[in-house]
Amino acid sequence: MNPVELYKKLPRTNCGECRQKACMPFAFALLKGEAALADCSCLAQEEKADIAASLTKFDWREDLITNLMEDIKKIHLDEISQNLGAEYSDGKLHFKCFGRDVSVGSEGEIQSKRALTPWMRMLVLFYIKNGGHSGLSGKWVLHNELRGGMMKHKAFRRECEEPLRELFDCHLEKLSRMLDGCAARCPDEFATRNAWVVHVFPRLPILLLYWPPDVEFDSQVTIRFDSSADTYFDVEQLIFLVVELLTDIEASL
Ligand code: SF4
Repeated sequence: MNPVELYKKLPRTNCGECRQKACMPFAFALLKGEAALADCSCLAQEEKADIAASLTKFDWREDLITNLMEDIKKIHLDEISQNLGAEYSDGKLHFKCFGRDVSVGSEGEIQSKRALTPWMRMLVLFYIKNGGHSGLSGKWVLHNELRGGMMKHKAFRRECEEPLRELFDCHLEKLSRMLDGCAARCPDEFATRNAWVVHVFPRLPILLLYWPPDVEFDSQVTIRFDSSADTYFDVEQLIFLVVELLTDIEASL
């Protein structure tokens, strides 16, 4: 069951009694094993049993990973290495993702010294499968300016920008130090010194911008992408990717 299918089975009242902000984050948390069905007091017993049965059938992510590996077998890795900003040697692609060194072989098998979550493995395989084909443009755009982004605008704000704003509000100093260690500060063209470019994949830089609160305004966060980002991931995959990035950052704080 994927997050959307699971979401459709939830009451969708967004009441927040499960301590998540809404039903969609609850669906994600449930699939990640970070929440339990019992946390949703709005589900009837039979509904919980029905969802639990679907959840235990299989881990849909592993299923998707297996399908993606089949797709990778049909790709000549040496031909796409340049597009991906990857090195090709010993029959494998080598590149960095989420700060980890990874190698991917012709069967789609992934190797990394540091553990990769199922979400990261999925994203690695999507990165290769989608292939990218335009190269970096150097032009920063908002998520809703990417192909199909308007449709996912609210979800992106709720799942990605709001949680990042909360992280910055609570841990600005620590987070700044951490980002200074693994990302480049962006020139001050966005009227904030809190601007970092994080290379989640070689050809997928993400610009994180934060403006602290002042007497008149609440704090603000914007996440921008290179305008070529939608040739590497679709807008929904980019939401998964940023959620995973935030989870990874939070775990390192
Ligand atoms: S308690 Fe249930 S209905 Fe309420 S937000 Fe959480 S998942 Fe949705």
